[in-house]
Amino acid sequence: MSNESPAGATTSSPAGHNWAGNVRFTAPRIAHPTSVDELAELVRAAAHVRAVGSRHTFTALADSAELIVSTEALPAEVTVDADARTASVSGGMRYAEVARELHARGWALRAMASLPHITVAGAIATGTHGSGDAVGSLASAVTALDVVRSDGSLVTVRRGDADFAGAVVALGALGVVTRVELAVEPTYGMTQVVDRGLPWESALADLDAVFGSADSVSMFTTWADPERVDQVWRKTRGAEVPEPLPGSVRAGEPGHPLPGGPAENCTDQTGEPGPWFERLPHFRAEFTPSNGDELQSEYFVPRDRAAEAIAAVRALAASPGVGDELRRLLFVSELRSIRADELWLSGAYGRDVVGIHFTWRRDEPAVRALLPQLEAALAPFGARPHWGKVFTLAADELAALYPRWGDFAELRARWDARGAFRNGQLESWGF
Ligand SMILES: Cc1cc2nc3c(=O)[nH]c(=O)nc-3n(C[C@H](O)[C@H](O)[C@H](O)COP(=O)(O)OP(=O)(O)OC[C@H]3O[C@@H](n4cnc5c(N)ncnc54)[C@H](O)[C@@H]3O)c2cc1C
Repeated sequence: MSNESPAGATTSSPAGHNWAGNVRFTAPRIAHPTSVDELAELVRAAAHVRAVGSRHTFTALADSAELIVSTEALPAEVTVDADARTASVSGGMRYAEVARELHARGWALRAMASLPHITVAGAIATGTHGSGDAVGSLASAVTALDVVRSDGSLVTVRRGDADFAGAVVALGALGVVTRVELAVEPTYGMTQVVDRGLPWESALADLDAVFGSADSVSMFTTWADPERVDQVWRKTRGAEVPEPLPGSVRAGEPGHPLPGGPAENCTDQTGEPGPWFERLPHFRAEFTPSNGDELQSEYFVPRDRAAEAIAAVRALAASPGVGDELRRLLFVSELRSIRADELWLSGAYGRDVVGIHFTWRRDEPAVRALLPQLEAALAPFGARPHWGKVFTLAADELAALYPRWGDFAELRARWDARGAFRNGQLESWGF
């Protein structure tokens, strides 16, 4: 990732900016440790410190009042324990690299996000996910973590340990994750196809039929067509190509999630079988944008109320004034299903969810002015925001959405007693 300024942004901080260019890090110092020992010494000696991965988060979550430590230069290692069906990977590695290594050795992950360029530790810290009724978030594949805490100690926490469920989706607030152990399975092939024009009426009447029609399903809509979902992307394990869903038609040529976007940046959509890591993400690993021209928001609603929640967003998007503004700011929305997990700060904690996602034009003041109305429409469903994306819920609203909020506060106070990993973004959310 380059630190060049995106168009229209200048940066004076040595720590540069996030991928979207809407956040300029204010930290006066950035370090690129090359060993875990060096990292631990940097962390121990800093009054304020935060880790940064590939910078794809849309807020100042990785910023620090003193020091940012990048995981880019730490050694990249992948080892597989075939008996345990786990892989130990360096936290700063990107999923694209991890996936290639695993596949070469005959192994695979269950889930990937739309973009394979994000780091493993950065992705699990915010509860990043892909899609699939039987598929949990990327964090739900974690079986153990090595973390450098603010006293410089390196601790391992494993599934089954009392602190584990609080330590995986942890927003970088507990320490710097240096190694992640992930559940793996034998490598597999997949197909991907795209269908267009699924009637909203049938989709909302039976969401289970849509999300259950492939191993990983994404519905894309701009909410502009009142009758039909624009695209349904379906990824299926094996060589099988599912029939188009009733009322939709198979796309004649490859497309992009954004209407009119460059299809060559996207993974194969022809139904040709290929390895899992070249079908699960929407975007190809070889396509590496140095910065973005967009913002994103996403809200997780309970699966059993998802049709109602989607209907509420459709109604908002169709309403005069706020609906016009929503559609003006929106590039595209994506709907995905995520299986429940037990990770305290996960959007899918304790319940199967559907993620209602929005890719916005990069006009942050206008997006932030709109979000309270969107959040009010989704509030009746107990919608939890994605930690890596833009939202405006207040601290007390957030606390009410997470049953283990108080337990996480206790864990954070214990693991980071001197508050080195606190920053303004976390404080604004009540951490
Ligand atoms: C184009 C694009 C597509 C996206 N697609 C998806 C998607 O399909 N699904 C989805 O759920 N999200 C998606 N996201 C959001 C993205 O996955 C999250 O923001 C993710 O956290 C980014 O990971 P990163 O490596 O860039 O982390 P960063 O943005 O660098 O950091 C994120 C957080 O992790 C912490 N962190 C980073 N490294 C470490 C470490 N080693 N130890 C401890 N804490 C650490 C940081 O302090 C910060 O709090 C997308 C974002 C973009 C820009």
